Amino acid sequence: MERRLQVAEGQHPFAAILCCSDSRVPPEILFDQGLGDLFVTRVAGNVVDDELIGSLEYAVEHLGVRLIMVLGHERCGAVRATLEAVLAGAEAEGHLEHLVKAIEPALEEAQLAYGDAWEAVAAANIERQASLLRHSRPILAEFVEAGELEVVAGRYDLDSGWVTLLEAETEEAHS
Ligand SMILES: [Zn+2]
Repeated sequence: MERRLQVAEGQHPFAAILCCSDSRVPPEILFDQGLGDLFVTRVAGNVVDDELIGSLEYAVEHLGVRLIMVLGHERCGAVRATLEAVLAGAEAEGHLEHLVKAIEPALEEAQLAYGDAWEAVAAANIERQASLLRHSRPILAEFVEAGELEVVAGRYDLDSGWVTLLEAETEEAHS
């Protein structure tokens, strides 16, 4: 109750997260955070669109957030749906096709680091979405270039519970 009252008048989250909607990957629970700690945007496949970028710009410009994590995970259904649609040469059903279109470019960038296409594409997609945020103009790219914002890519392992940072650009990559 004390914490609720503390943040009722204003929020100062220390990080923002763009996370997959998967029910097994709630960032507040994974990182053991409470009210007012994380600014969270979630969508299946942790993909970037204008509404998400607008949300994150708000977090950076108006809430003082200096760290954004794109958090994807093992066995992501949105990535699976993309692979299946592409392999079948067919469109996904309904609005899912929009997610497929957003994830599809990661197929070309996928490395076989995880030993299978599903995990390789998931990792490539996480890195790609982080890169899109890092280069998003106006605002996010400007903060990154000024050294005032870091965008990191994380992959959550459903089996072990560990989050691994994916990119060489971050100091703790592959730790
Ligand atoms: Zn997912």
